[in-house]
Amino acid sequence: MKQLETMILENGKVLGEDILKVDAFLNHQIDPVLMKGIGEVFAEAFKDSGITRILTLESSGIAPAVMAGLELGVPVVFGRKSKSLTLTDGLYTAEVRSYTKKTVNEIAVSKSFLNKDDVILVIDDFLANGQAALGLKSLVDQAGATLAGMGIVIEKTFQPGRGILEDQGVRMVSLARIEKFEAGKVVFAPADI
Ligand code: 5GP
Repeated sequence: MKQLETMILENGKVLGEDILKVDAFLNHQIDPVLMKGIGEVFAEAFKDSGITRILTLESSGIAPAVMAGLELGVPVVFGRKSKSLTLTDGLYTAEVRSYTKKTVNEIAVSKSFLNKDDVILVIDDFLANGQAALGLKSLVDQAGATLAGMGIVIEKTFQPGRGILEDQGVRMVSLARIEKFEAGKVVFAPADI
């Protein structure tokens, strides 16, 4: 997605070897026009999949997921993160190792908001090692729902997440795909869209 790649080049900051900071438009401040465009592109990619609900993870997945939900006319539910849950009645839960914070969080979603008849589109901001995506997939699997695919805003292709998910038969659609960071600059691989 050209508009997203341009935004990354103009406002993204490379941190160390493998982190892209996008606080200016996605992870802290949010660019609504860009989010609207992202929602439209995800909706177009999954318009024939019979999506009934979108699942994302708080907090940075919510903005793109809501815009896609608006386009597809379906509700958006987000997995909540907490250090460790004691009361898990009524919840589907999964463990997720945070890529950026190096901590393990439990993610949880109420059983009321994921049903076995649902066809789910998972949306997240980044795909690196695939831990967040696997956790979200686990919530869908626990509900007995169908996973139509995953929409990722920014994928880093030099990390193994996509391969892990595709090996499990998940359709992956990434709007920007980063092949590498070179001297502090982003080098893109061809995007899916
Ligand atoms: P994974 O679980 O695939 O290893 O990492 C994905 C999660 O880690 C995303 O939900 C995102 O919050 C965070 N993440 C991974 N890589 C980056 C990055 O380069 N920049 C930012 N801002 N977040 C990242």
